[in-house]
Amino acid sequence: MKETPYWWDTVAFPAGEQEPPAGAVDVAVIGAGITGLSAALELARRGLRVAVLETHTLGWGASSRNGGQVLTGLHAAPEHLIKHYGLDLARRMFAASLDAIADVERLTHAEAIDCDFARTGHLEVAARAGHFPGFIESAATLEREFKHRLHLLGKEQVAAELGTDAYFGGILDEHSATVNPARFTAGLAEAARRRGARLFDNAAVDRLAREGERWRVITRRGALLADHVFVATSGYTGPVTPALQRRLVPFGSYIIATEPLGPDVLERLLPHRRAVFDSNKFLHYFRLSADGRLLFGGRAGFFPETPQTVNESAAILQRDLARVFPQTAGVEVTHVWGGTLDFAFDEMPHAGALGGLHFALGYAGHGVALATYLGLRMAAALAGETVENPFTEIPFPTAPLGLYDGKPWFLPALSVYFQMLDRLS
Ligand SMILES: Cc1cc2nc3c(=O)[nH]c(=O)nc-3n(C[C@H](O)[C@H](O)[C@H](O)COP(=O)(O)OP(=O)(O)OC[C@H]3O[C@@H](n4cnc5c(N)ncnc54)[C@H](O)[C@@H]3O)c2cc1C
Repeated sequence: MKETPYWWDTVAFPAGEQEPPAGAVDVAVIGAGITGLSAALELARRGLRVAVLETHTLGWGASSRNGGQVLTGLHAAPEHLIKHYGLDLARRMFAASLDAIADVERLTHAEAIDCDFARTGHLEVAARAGHFPGFIESAATLEREFKHRLHLLGKEQVAAELGTDAYFGGILDEHSATVNPARFTAGLAEAARRRGARLFDNAAVDRLAREGERWRVITRRGALLADHVFVATSGYTGPVTPALQRRLVPFGSYIIATEPLGPDVLERLLPHRRAVFDSNKFLHYFRLSADGRLLFGGRAGFFPETPQTVNESAAILQRDLARVFPQTAGVEVTHVWGGTLDFAFDEMPHAGALGGLHFALGYAGHGVALATYLGLRMAAALAGETVENPFTEIPFPTAPLGLYDGKPWFLPALSVYFQMLDRLS
C-alpha cells in the first residue's frame, strides 16, 4: 500500500523557480495551496507583482490531499449561523458558499484546468437514527430562510443511492460538486504562473520583519521585500505567524483509496457518484474517483499526519470500510494518506488583516470551495477593490481563557469526548 495521496499519482505538479526569492513584490503569499494559488492567480491577473513562498513542493498541503468534495454551506449548521450572526449575515455567508462552488467551476473553464469537476451533488447521511430530526430542521431552515432546496431521503432511498444500509436517512444537495483536488491545485499553480506570478518551492518563510511600511520576508533560501503579506497556511500555520497559530487548531484527517472497482460493484455503489459524508463528529466521507476507485476518509485519529498516524489510520479505515460497504471485501486498498486541516475556535472561516498581515483560513473541512472564494476575494481586496466577503466581518476568537499557544495539547481528550458524543447521540 502506498502511503502517499492517490491524487498525486494523477498529476505532475509544476516545480518552483530555481532562483532564490529576491527583490520586491506587491504581495508575498505564504503557502502554495488553493488559498495562496487562487490569490496569486487573481493578483497577477490584475497586474500586481506577486511571489508565492512554499515550504515543500507547490500544492503539498491539504489542497492536494483532500476528499475533493466541493460543498455548499459551511461546517456550522444554518441555525447556528442565524443564531450567532443574524439572518442577514447568515444569508450572505450561505450565498458565499454557493458563489465559492461557482468560482471553482468558472476557474476550471477559464483556466482550462482538467480536474474532473462535476456537479454530482452531495449527500449527508445520518450515522445514528437520532441525527435525522436535525436534518429535517436544517432542510426546513435552508428552504425557508435561504431559499435553498434540499431533498430529504429515507433509509431505503439512501440505501439505493449508496449501496449500503448503514445509514438512517440523508439529505441530498444537488448543487455540490466533486473535483480531483490535486489536479485543481496544480492547475491553479500553472495558471498563476502563466499570469505572471512567481512561485517558489522549498522556500519556507522563517521570519517576517517590518522594514518601514513594507515587510521583509525571510525564507530558507532568500528574502524579499513585500508591500503586503497574505498568509495562506491553513492547518500548517506555524510560529512565523503566532497570532494566527493561536487562533487555529490543526486536525488530522485520513483517506484510503481502493483499486478501481469492477463494473458489477460500481453499478450498486454510488451510482450517481455523489460526494458523501456522515453526521458523526468522528465522521466518514467518501466518493468515487474518475477511474472508479472508492476513496474512503475519516477522522481516524485527530492528530496531524505522521508515518505512525497514517499507518494506524489505514487499519481503522479498512475496518470501517468493510462495515459500511461489505461488498468491497477482497478489494485491494492501494493508498493511504493523511493531511491537516484547520478549525478556528468558533469553527468558522476567517479572513482579513491581523497585526498588519492579511490572511484567509479556518475552513473546517470546507476549504476546496471556500479557499478558492477567499483567495480570490482577498486578492481583489488587496488590489484595492471593494468586494463582498462576509467572513471579514466576524470576530476571530482566541481559545477560551487563552489556554492555547498553538500546540493542541487537548486533542487526545477532545478525541475521546467526540467519540463519546457520537456513541450517545
Ligand atoms: C484529508 C483531508 C480531506 C479533506 N477533505 C475535504 C473535502 O472533501 N472538501 C473540502 O472542502 N475540504 C476538505 N479538506 C480541507 C481542505 O483540503 C483545506 O481546507 C484546503 O485545502 C485549505 O487550503 P489552503 O490553501 O488554505 O491550505 P493548504 O493546502 O494546507 O496549504 C497550506 C500550505 O502552506 C505551507 N506553509 C505553511 N507554513 C509555511 C511557511 N512558514 N512558509 C511557507 N509555506 C508554508 C504548507 O506547506 C502548505 O503547503 C480536507 C482536508 C484534509 C487534510
